[in-house]
Amino acid sequence: MNIPGEYVLDRMVLEKGALKQAAFYLKDKGSRDVILAADANTYEAAGRKLEEELGAAGVTVRLCLIEPGASGDVVADETSLLQLLIEVNPETTDAVIAVGSGTIHDIVRYVCYKTGKPFVSVPTAPSVDGFTSKGAPLIVRGVKKTFPAIGPVAIFADVDVLTKAPQQLVAAGFGDMLGKYTSLFDWKFSHLAAQEPYDKEVADMTEKALRACVEHVDEIGKRTEEGIRILMTSLIESGIAMLKFGQSHPASGAEHHLSHFWEMEYLRRGSRALLHGAKVGVACAEISRLYHDAAFRGVYPGQEPEMLKKHGSQVREWLDEVPGEADIRSLLQRAGGPSSLQELGIDDGLFADSVREAHRLRDRHTLLRALNEA
Ligand SMILES: [Zn+2]
Repeated sequence: MNIPGEYVLDRMVLEKGALKQAAFYLKDKGSRDVILAADANTYEAAGRKLEEELGAAGVTVRLCLIEPGASGDVVADETSLLQLLIEVNPETTDAVIAVGSGTIHDIVRYVCYKTGKPFVSVPTAPSVDGFTSKGAPLIVRGVKKTFPAIGPVAIFADVDVLTKAPQQLVAAGFGDMLGKYTSLFDWKFSHLAAQEPYDKEVADMTEKALRACVEHVDEIGKRTEEGIRILMTSLIESGIAMLKFGQSHPASGAEHHLSHFWEMEYLRRGSRALLHGAKVGVACAEISRLYHDAAFRGVYPGQEPEMLKKHGSQVREWLDEVPGEADIRSLLQRAGGPSSLQELGIDDGLFADSVREAHRLRDRHTLLRALNEA
């Protein structure tokens, strides 16, 4: 895996039997007292086995089973954060292990940041590109915001565990990767339209990870060992690319802004959250349709943006590289995930609001913003 020098994690293991290696790693580091944070599902998927391995290695492990919130899902909110924080002993806790997908990681990365403890990542599904993130999206008093946090000192991704992850989580990881088609376009556009910083090496790294996933979509859909290995590698590489650049530009454009808008509305309604990557994948198809309509067919919400008048041929050249709406939906289906707003349950009103308003959520130039502000 191509990880730029200054961002090398202490250890990055993606193979069968990685759980055992996680236990050896902690023992080698002199850890005597660790906390294992998981939820009921991820404990069954990997936590119990890891607990046994740690015990065999002579490491004392305390389990912190994060409980679901009122919606029935485990969420990274005040209650979950406190549940873990209470377990951390300032004197004796050597490390916290996050066993789970994105949410468990966000709880752990924030608590470890605040308590100065290292955290070890044990992903149980290839579902998001945020395992290595230094930001934690947390829900505080019902509002989701990203707070500074820390990345893991080591990642132990066990292929035996990942290939058994539910298909919807695998498809969500694929959707998060597919979103790079429009995020990479928006990044170039923001550089052209508003001189936002751009790094070609980081963009190429992200694009390579995206292409690997698209080339292996059927293996990913079937959860073969190769497919899962490629998806997980790509997600970690996309995460590392963001760390290298220091901001989320490579991996997050208008498709992520739509997804955030829907997520906030679901929070307001008290509805059960949709998977991040499931939203991003569908949003990518919708954004591709809007962008292709604007650049190739002259269809705009209002006027033609000045940027399109001035740089139309460049924008069209870049958009030629972004698959059309139908192709993106077909890729999502082949990965076994939802491919339409209807399947996600996003109604027409919410979708229309998000297309009009989502660009206001982030101070970032995108073609969606240019179309709305023309
Ligand atoms: Zn994402």
